[in-house]
Amino acid sequence: MAEFSLELNEDQLQIQKWVHDFAEQVLRPAASEWDEREETPWPIIEEAAKIGLYSWEFIANVFADPQGLTFPLACEELCWGDAGLAMAILGSTLAVSGIAGNGTPEQIAEWVPQCFGTPDKIQLGAFAVSEPDAGSDVSSLRTRAVYDAATDEWVLNGAKTWITNGGIADVHVIVAAVDPELKARGHASFVVPPGTPGLRMGQKFKKHGIRASHTAEVILEDVRVPGSCLLGGKDKLDERLARAREGKSTKVQAAMSTFEASRPLVGAQAIGIARAAYEYALDYAKERVQFGKPIIENQAIAFKLADMKMEIDAARLLVWRACWMGATRKPFLNGEGSMSKLKAGEVAVKVTEEAIQILGGYGYVREYPVERWHRDSKIYTIFEGTSEIQRLVIARAISGVHIR
Ligand SMILES: Cc1cc2nc3c(=O)[nH]c(=O)nc-3n(C[C@H](O)[C@H](O)[C@H](O)COP(=O)(O)OP(=O)(O)OC[C@H]3O[C@@H](n4cnc5c(N)ncnc54)[C@H](O)[C@@H]3O)c2cc1C
Repeated sequence: MAEFSLELNEDQLQIQKWVHDFAEQVLRPAASEWDEREETPWPIIEEAAKIGLYSWEFIANVFADPQGLTFPLACEELCWGDAGLAMAILGSTLAVSGIAGNGTPEQIAEWVPQCFGTPDKIQLGAFAVSEPDAGSDVSSLRTRAVYDAATDEWVLNGAKTWITNGGIADVHVIVAAVDPELKARGHASFVVPPGTPGLRMGQKFKKHGIRASHTAEVILEDVRVPGSCLLGGKDKLDERLARAREGKSTKVQAAMSTFEASRPLVGAQAIGIARAAYEYALDYAKERVQFGKPIIENQAIAFKLADMKMEIDAARLLVWRACWMGATRKPFLNGEGSMSKLKAGEVAVKVTEEAIQILGGYGYVREYPVERWHRDSKIYTIFEGTSEIQRLVIARAISGVHIR
């Protein structure tokens, strides 16, 4: 039985420092430029690939931490550097979660490396569940997957929206309805291999924040993928659908199992942004003089900073708890994964807003990074489940009541 400790071990500290150095030296100096350009920052992804940070080996390594803390540490540091660039680097890992969460060992070995490529030939992954009429309500997906027994192929048709790396990814993981009557229990995940005809990018969105990360629609028109691209395989799917049709409970819901695993990591990203804003505001408050003294000498400012620090630490503890529970396979009986993402997202929005307040006019203009951090933070109360949906998950978990 391991002793309770919040001290990071040598491996964790080493990776944390390594990612921090990359964030400080590569992401911070490039952040403003790529925010303005609003394009995929290929040179930055290449830099990350060259040092091994953008690679399947790195993801395998951080997932191997038995305490589950290495990945959230890395996420926090990357987003401390810049959340838009961090998302360009981390976006492929959502596809990895989709593959690892639902695929067979053979499928994982085949497709996960292809979500990254090599430093000479960068590849991207995308995970596509959201649709124009199915955002929070994932159960009402319209994208259909139909099996063609004659050719052992699946035929995908539909439209996905808001997809990170959508249409520019090499590997798209698509969640589609196999049996729409079964709602979420009739869903399955499919890998669409690079260059498959019929998959194309629709509109690319211009965003409020994380603008270096590509977000677009993905259109699927008679996309044919081999039977081997159904994650988990057909036997398992048929068995699951049969159980669902009999009204028996089914453990796996394709999209939900991916989000459960990734929510605490999304929380860790939000904490990175909040910490960046807090540190900046603290330094600024010590230097900015008004009425003949540094503004931090006013309780009104100092107490804001005290609250910012406390909220960041509280959010991080929830994230670490959820990551530790995930790594040690403890069930999230009280919605602990959702709690961590909910708290961290709301803290990031609040802390970055307070940082603007502490900088006054300087916080509101683009010469200073704080307004960008505020814009970047807002997505953390929206994607991977809005704050309202996280509260719903927690409320249902703690009460056992099907709250709407
Ligand atoms: C930048 C960005 C990147 C994204 N990346 C991806 C991606 O890679 N892959 C992917 O599949 N999706 C992605 N998304 C989609 C994201 O997950 C959805 O936007 C999110 O789930 C919310 O869905 P929606 O936008 O349709 O909002 P809606 O579901 O329409 O919600 C609108 C409002 O209604 C509230 N609401 C809805 N239902 C309830 C309810 N039952 N109770 C209380 N309140 C409710 C919501 O909380 C929200 O405030 C991304 C989105 C963005 C903006």
